[in-house]
Amino acid sequence: MLPPVDEEQLAESPFTALGLGRPIVEAVLQKGYSQPSSIQQQCIPAVLAGRDVMAAAQTGTGKTAGFTLPMLERLRHGPHARGRIVRSLVLTPTRELAAQVADNVKAYSRHLDLRSDVVFGGVKINPQITRLQAGADVLVATPGRLMDLVQQGAISLDRVEILVLDEADRMLDMGFVDAVKIIAKATPSNRQTLLFSATFEGKVMEIAKQLLRNPARVQLAANHDRHASIEQRLHHADDHGHKHDLLSHYLSSTELSQAVIFTATKRGADKLARRLADQGHASAALHGDMGQGARKRTVEQMRRGKFRLLVATDVASRGLDIKGISHV
Ligand code: AMP
Repeated sequence: MLPPVDEEQLAESPFTALGLGRPIVEAVLQKGYSQPSSIQQQCIPAVLAGRDVMAAAQTGTGKTAGFTLPMLERLRHGPHARGRIVRSLVLTPTRELAAQVADNVKAYSRHLDLRSDVVFGGVKINPQITRLQAGADVLVATPGRLMDLVQQGAISLDRVEILVLDEADRMLDMGFVDAVKIIAKATPSNRQTLLFSATFEGKVMEIAKQLLRNPARVQLAANHDRHASIEQRLHHADDHGHKHDLLSHYLSSTELSQAVIFTATKRGADKLARRLADQGHASAALHGDMGQGARKRTVEQMRRGKFRLLVATDVASRGLDIKGISHV
């Protein structure tokens, strides 16, 4: 059961003051948010005003609500989606992030009759085609699968009102430059475009210049604000054996609740996960050679605390939001 929200709470919420309507503020309060984050304070009014937005924001800043809340506010007033029409499109680099963003969209739109959906590769395309026959007010997608769906005529992008590029730098690093350009080109040129990226170097700046018109720039006050709660330590290892000893030492610490351990290769991830399991740690591997079902299951089990250690390649390097992780 969701906690009830009273009129006074709704009226006095800072989210109401930012211009969001009642059903959306109600969902936000039920999520337990009382104050908008800095990114949200800057993004929400700009998006509501119809402006393009270019935001330097990483996971943990509340960026997902920063674009989703005002997007839902705009969408709830227009004619709803029907027959293969997509009204807003959120592109994300990975399946995990797509699923996570889609979960957020569902939560924030629980009091609205907007249709949202999520599509990514690695699972059957036919059920996605069937579902999309009814259109989507919000579609969250990874670029590759979205291209397939467009090419098969399953959806049309020529009525997209809002295009969001989430983690744009990572999307471009993963080789989706051309896909992003093609997808943007298939949407109307008078659409609203929101771009979120950890960095604005090289290709990202180029794409931003091509796709955004006079964007509002959103930035956190200072870089160190973002990581104020994170302590970074560098350990020098003499050799392979020493590295493993250091790892064992830190893994046995009681301060460590859950940890993600990154490896360079998929095989390395499997090997280390097995080794740690042999040492008695509840651990699992996560990498791109695993099927989508297995990847999703592993992340969920980590979230529920079934595993203490997740040994991952860079498929998990960004965007995963797991509350219990104390160490990386
Ligand atoms: P994000 O950066 O969008 O991945 O969000 C990071 C986490 O912050 C998620 O668990 C959100 O549910 C949470 N969050 C987003 N906005 C707020 C807020 N205004 N107050 C508290 N938590 C929030």
